[in-house]
Amino acid sequence: MKKHIAVLAGDGIGPEITEGAVAVLKRVAEKFGHEFTFEPLLIGGAAIDRTGEPLPAETIERCLASDSVLLGAVGGPKWDSLPGDKRPEKGLLGIRKAMNLYSNIRPAKLWRALADASPLKEELVKDGVEITVVRELTGGIYFGERGRFGDEKNGETAWDTERYSVREIARITKIACEIASKRSKKIISVDKANVLESSRLWRAVVHAYAEKYYPDITVQDMLVDNCAMQIVKYPAQFDVLLTSNMFGDILSDEAAQITGSIGMLASSSLGDTKCGLYEPIHGSAPDIAGKDVANPIATILSCAMMLRDSFGLAKEAEAIETAVERVLEEGYRTADIFREGTKKVGCRAMAARVAERI
Ligand code: NAD
Repeated sequence: MKKHIAVLAGDGIGPEITEGAVAVLKRVAEKFGHEFTFEPLLIGGAAIDRTGEPLPAETIERCLASDSVLLGAVGGPKWDSLPGDKRPEKGLLGIRKAMNLYSNIRPAKLWRALADASPLKEELVKDGVEITVVRELTGGIYFGERGRFGDEKNGETAWDTERYSVREIARITKIACEIASKRSKKIISVDKANVLESSRLWRAVVHAYAEKYYPDITVQDMLVDNCAMQIVKYPAQFDVLLTSNMFGDILSDEAAQITGSIGMLASSSLGDTKCGLYEPIHGSAPDIAGKDVANPIATILSCAMMLRDSFGLAKEAEAIETAVERVLEEGYRTADIFREGTKKVGCRAMAARVAERI
């Protein structure tokens, strides 16, 4: 199979982790007889430095022409004082919008070999943790109208808007139902319907859609504050968690943390086509950038999601996941998941170990 992959390394640890993930994809191509080509493109702070824009037109054009996109991470202190529409994060929001990627799927799994890396007590995670967060990605408060009024003398005020349409809620519900139908057939839908009008519409549409098109799926509602609490109280109760953009942003980081390290968690963003965007859920980690200590596994597992969900290569995806499991069981650890008695390796060496075991 021939596939063309756009690689948006971005900032901070982005170049290191994408380099490791590309090495793993090259090994998969070699082993299974595929031809993957890789095209590096600019995004985020790196793009601002070279072109003045966080998302150059060429990047959008080439991503749309690719079979899928692999992204590292964007952002860093160097660009923090730039105005909102010129910041690196604008590049990330922009590419999701340009590719019409309205769903973000984030599986948070506690790997057997890393059970002791969870900050939760053993009795809370003994039943396993495998939460798939299905987050709406192109609506809500991150894309709503915003502004400021007033002045320093009279007091300045800033505002943002949470806004959702029936169409936006229905299409993300469909994605959650599709995933749940292959798993436990249970969805927990998160909202703040006791306060927000947008959440009341969210709740009504999720139920109406699921009941009409997926009658065998059970939908349970949970208020976002309770959900934040339940994730650390008894994570095994969750399977598919359906959320709006902002709630999912926060809850998926919380779910990630109970699995040990944010450096282990992959994600996919998809719309109506097979061309998706695959990226780790963490940021650019400027504190460890350029030191060859970052964990590349989240990015490597994002590649496994790309193979399965965009290219239909389930066997190859599984080969990556099994290789990761083996490397962890053999005791190799990057600094973020290192414990006494395990073998510490850098970013490049970790990716090489995974590639070797494919
Ligand atoms: P972060 O995820 O970059 O880092 C949080 C902590 O986790 C840091 O201590 C970091 O060292 C650690 N960490 C993250 N990824 C790791 C990895 N692969 N291996 C080992 N340790 C890892 O979040 P932050 O510090 O809040 O943000 C840093 C920058 O990243 C900011 O500019 C932010 O806007 C940006 N950001 C980008 C994205 C993205 O590109 N998708 C997401 C979140 C934050």
